[in-house]
Amino acid sequence: MGNILDGKALAQEACKGIKARVEALRNIGVVPTLAVILVGEDPASQLYVRSKGKKAAELGIDARQYTFDAGLSQDALLSKIDELNQDPGVHGILVQLPLPAHLDTGSVLERILPEKDVDGFHLYNAGALLTGRPGFLPCTPKGIVHLVKSTGVEIAGKRCVVVGRSNIVGKPVALLMLREDATVTICHSRSQDLGSITREADILISAVGRAKLITADMVKPGAVVIDVGQVRLEGKWQGDVDYAPVLEKAAYITPVPGGVGPMTIAMLMENTVEAAEAASRNA
Ligand code: NAP
Repeated sequence: MGNILDGKALAQEACKGIKARVEALRNIGVVPTLAVILVGEDPASQLYVRSKGKKAAELGIDARQYTFDAGLSQDALLSKIDELNQDPGVHGILVQLPLPAHLDTGSVLERILPEKDVDGFHLYNAGALLTGRPGFLPCTPKGIVHLVKSTGVEIAGKRCVVVGRSNIVGKPVALLMLREDATVTICHSRSQDLGSITREADILISAVGRAKLITADMVKPGAVVIDVGQVRLEGKWQGDVDYAPVLEKAAYITPVPGGVGPMTIAMLMENTVEAAEAASRNA
């Protein structure tokens, strides 16, 4: 029987340090401030935005929410971002994804100043990650690395398999694991015989969004299994991993909910504090 990697507890621990940094900033008159833009009424996006606002309030970060109806024009959204870019009181800007289909997500994300891009999705920050330069790391991949490190399992030299190649999870987490000296393989919807690849993984990270895609026979005994998937099925959140049988086989596994999700929010808070610290140094 494996160990459950408690993302909630790890996030709480991380938040203690983040709160101390917020207090240090407040003591010099800087209130770390995050602007969150929500376009439309997607219930999942509304829930994520609420969770981020709640966590920010707990830590003393000012989270300002800007909500627009789904018909918002591209120009109006870009003007809002320009205004927030120019506001020295705003340290981080987050546009909740997905945006309605008529909006061009790429150009919206690239309008955010890289130094306020606390989600780490701007091309500059993506390039910084690729080339090993300083920049904001995307929150979910950053949280995943913390989760893996919390096991105490050495990453260097291990086989890491990432299932999923999105720009926000799969690709960046693969790069981060490479930075940690793992030997990394990335799988996707066209990969053949997925199980033969995942069975080689000492560290298996699944970021697909398909319930029970990863079954116990696809997991190496003693592996660290990180389940990023979040699917709403029959009124319950489920991950990509067939949890109970894989828990029997793996050394560590993240639950859904309560694994990657809380760490993602904690890392967003950390990035916001980093942005505020950098702005106060440069003021
Ligand atoms: P995405 O953009 O839809 O990407 C999914 C990836 O999975 C794609 O690369 C796709 O391959 C691959 N895929 C689809 N079917 C597959 C299959 N049968 N075998 C292997 N690979 C397959 O999703 P995402 O934004 O990365 O998110 C992935 C999941 O993580 C979602 O459930 C999302 O809700 C969750 N998530 C959770 C958090 C959190 O904080 N907990 C944060 C972000 C995302 P192709 O590229 O070939 O299409």
